[in-house]
Amino acid sequence: MKDEMHLTHLATGDLLRAAVAAGTPLGLEARRFMDAGELVPDEVVIGMIRERLDAGAEDFLLDGFPRTIAQAEALDDMLSDLGAPLDAVLLLSVSRAELVRRLAGRWLCRTCGRSWHEVSNPHRRDEDCLETGKDCDLYQRDDDRAETVANRLDVYDAQTAPLVGYYRERGLLRELDGERSLEDVYAQIEATVAPGR
Ligand code: AMP
Repeated sequence: MKDEMHLTHLATGDLLRAAVAAGTPLGLEARRFMDAGELVPDEVVIGMIRERLDAGAEDFLLDGFPRTIAQAEALDDMLSDLGAPLDAVLLLSVSRAELVRRLAGRWLCRTCGRSWHEVSNPHRRDEDCLETGKDCDLYQRDDDRAETVANRLDVYDAQTAPLVGYYRERGLLRELDGERSLEDVYAQIEATVAPGR
């Protein structure tokens, strides 16, 4: 999916949820990790991204990948093969308490993938699905349950937080304030990845 910044949005979580919904062998394997709030094994997600990047090297924004140092190193190799180095890595800083609040009130459309929040960004009745043009098919993610969220945040601290140093050392890290409003965070992202657009 291309967004308003003309970037292809490539989210490993979306790709994995699609594989789970389709009942593919990869989806079946991934599901037990996702339900527990654990990371899906590196080789699975690296394979998924490799397949997608091999299909064409347009401008893209990776979301939720890499999540481990091993994934970051594999990404470096893939991008160096493509001759397309990373422009920037965005770190959206949000406190643990605010993350718990946001995930607990999150609703997504099963078909077009957009998300809303009960308090900060409620879904309006007249908002049609981007894919079907009819009402969005709203649901809450199983892994947004409180117990699973706590584990996801611990997994982030243990396995993903080390990437901050990895990308800071390489001069690629851009730190944004993720606690601001939706519009403000979007504007910060746009100013960082697509200045002047
Ligand atoms: P997300 O939609 O990014 O929150 O991802 C949902 C779940 O998918 C995560 O909790 C993991 O179980 C799995 N997942 C998504 N991206 C990755 C990744 N890069 N590495 C490992 N597991 C991932």
